[in-house]
Amino acid sequence: MELIIASNNQGKIREFKEMLSPLGYEPVSLKEAGINIEIPEDGETFSENAHIKAKAIYDIVKKPVLADDSGLAIEFLEGAPGVYSARYAGENATDLDRINKVLDELQGVDTELRGAKFICALYLILDDEREICVTGEVEGYIGYEPIGENGFGYDPIFMVDYETSMACLTSEEKNAISHRSRALKALVKELSK
Ligand code: IMP
Repeated sequence: MELIIASNNQGKIREFKEMLSPLGYEPVSLKEAGINIEIPEDGETFSENAHIKAKAIYDIVKKPVLADDSGLAIEFLEGAPGVYSARYAGENATDLDRINKVLDELQGVDTELRGAKFICALYLILDDEREICVTGEVEGYIGYEPIGENGFGYDPIFMVDYETSMACLTSEEKNAISHRSRALKALVKELSK
């Protein structure tokens, strides 16, 4: 079944293709679907933003749409950057700018206070009557410098153990534990009900 992914984030699209294709879904990015719109993400939670994105695209295509809103919540920063993860260092900033901003904010903060979570909300609209919202999380802590070449976004500073950042994992290893794969598992469970 074709499933339009309401995102232009190449890292997310790649992970959805890796995880959904074996389940028989054919994820299609907004670009591949020929859709080019800016969707204001002004919700207060990941779930609200995922809903806003899914609904905006569903209203255009009237076909199954899956939206993901995700980000990083850091304990010491009281949950920031949270829903502002993508814009944390300004509109035109790079992943490295955002990483450096987080590292600056945590300068001098001890390891035990650097706890963090990646959170993912998925909102699926199948048709006018069937909508599903699920979330997934993975816990870790923020490292002291970027490590690893894989993944995307904040992965190089999200430590899954003392030596390993999310960006050190292969895509299979990340997909086995990530917030996105956990949310996706919850979604598949809901779909099979
Ligand atoms: P969104 O596209 O508005 O959901 O923004 C998500 C933000 O959180 C982006 O800045 C991403 O880089 C970051 N993010 C979401 N998921 C991940 C992940 O799996 N690894 C690293 N960063 C992520």
